[in-house]
Amino acid sequence: MIGVGLIGSSIARAARQFGAARHIAVMDSSPQVVKRAEELGLADLATQDPAQALASADLVIVCTPVGACGAVAQRVAPYLEKGAVISDVGSVKGAVVAQMAPHLTEPARFIPAHPIAGTEFSGPDAGFATLFQNRWCILTPPENADAEAVETLTKFWRRLGANVETMSVTHHDAVLALTSHLPHLIAYNIVGTADDFGDETRSEVVKFSASGFRDFTRIAASDPIMWRDIFLANKDAVLEMLGRFNEDLSVLQRMIRRNDGQGLLEFFARTREIRRSIIEQGQDTTAPDFGRRGGGR
Ligand code: NAP
Repeated sequence: MIGVGLIGSSIARAARQFGAARHIAVMDSSPQVVKRAEELGLADLATQDPAQALASADLVIVCTPVGACGAVAQRVAPYLEKGAVISDVGSVKGAVVAQMAPHLTEPARFIPAHPIAGTEFSGPDAGFATLFQNRWCILTPPENADAEAVETLTKFWRRLGANVETMSVTHHDAVLALTSHLPHLIAYNIVGTADDFGDETRSEVVKFSASGFRDFTRIAASDPIMWRDIFLANKDAVLEMLGRFNEDLSVLQRMIRRNDGQGLLEFFARTREIRRSIIEQGQDTTAPDFGRRGGGR
């Protein structure tokens, strides 16, 4: 694993706990993170040196913020073993593929992936082995992908407890813009709006947060670097979804202004059904605050 934050350290922990790898090496650009990975005993080897980390590795997973993936690919490419599978975990696929692929000598063995699992915490201490249990991991193999490489990565993620699905890069970025990126933008925005109020209102916002606001603050506490990178890397799809969102918001605004109770009722009944299907499919429970350790990104 290159990058030992929440996701990299969770993969390392899960790979060990569920026996998905014989030897685990982690590499990070930060000496503090490498030291912490050693203290936590996350891997057989923790290092800043790509030559050491990649020696005899048959699977390499880049787990850095999206914006660093290109530089990481350039740095590690000379040390990749022939025939090794390389993957990533980035929340955006188009931009990551564009940044990483040009540096790789065996692009057919580069199988991008995105585990739809995470929390609002970052760093090596935040990870845990069961993060991927019953979560989806989306693979976006290139058209000429090496079938054996896809199979290796699929088996690896299944061993970690994830369900695996395959789709195109473009489709992934459109779906995630709606299910993940837009909700984060809305959360950042609403918490920012509250913060712009005066001190008195702000303290009441905190006091009465259980009435809905609290859930937004959890999402808006997500890592700023990671989310800056995601919005810039998935700009087109996010702007497209934001346009649709604004149109729908105007419809709701008009219903409220015109006292259209029936319209509001029908709208809210429809959205309640979506919540029901998420619970039925095991992607959340009705228990309050579930998702703190497993909500998807
Ligand atoms: P994180 O906890 O911040 O960890 C990222 C780690 O990568 C940090 O230790 C960072 O070190 C290190 N790093 C940064 N640049 C590097 C470089 N050039 N070479 C080596 N290491 C480098 O982030 P995360 O939450 O694990 O997210 C990692 C990736 O997973 C992102 O691409 C994100 O889109 C994706 N993802 C995240 C979630 C989630 O919920 N968090 C879910 C699914 C996918 P420094 O701290 O020193 O910069």
